[in-house]
Amino acid sequence: MTSRAERRHPELEQRCAWCHAIPGLPCTNGHGDRREKPHPGRKDAWIRAHFCCPDCGAPAEGGLCMTGPQPMTEGVHRARAQAAEAAYEAAVEAASSDVDGRPR
Ligand SMILES: [Zn+2]
Ligand SMILES: [Zn+2]
Repeated sequence: MTSRAERRHPELEQRCAWCHAIPGLPCTNGHGDRREKPHPGRKDAWIRAHFCCPDCGAPAEGGLCMTGPQPMTEGVHRARAQAAEAAYEAAVEAASSDVDGRPR
């Protein structure tokens, strides 16, 4: 049975801009060793790619969060990260249950 313990890092489907790990492969450090956790920036890229920001209105498909006139080149707003986290949790829940297209 699928358990929550089997949750993987969804950002692995994103290319990592830091270490250039290709989609599906884990991040590596400077010596070519696998990192236990992906680079934080990789998750931000994943969030940007899939979720718009409820805080500043940055669009999905890679839109950067904005703080006033300045784009946030690192990180995203907390609300956006939380929305991504919640959506992923829901997807994991849905995938781990056998309920078939239950209407809401
Ligand atoms: Zn990386
Ligand atoms: Zn934002």
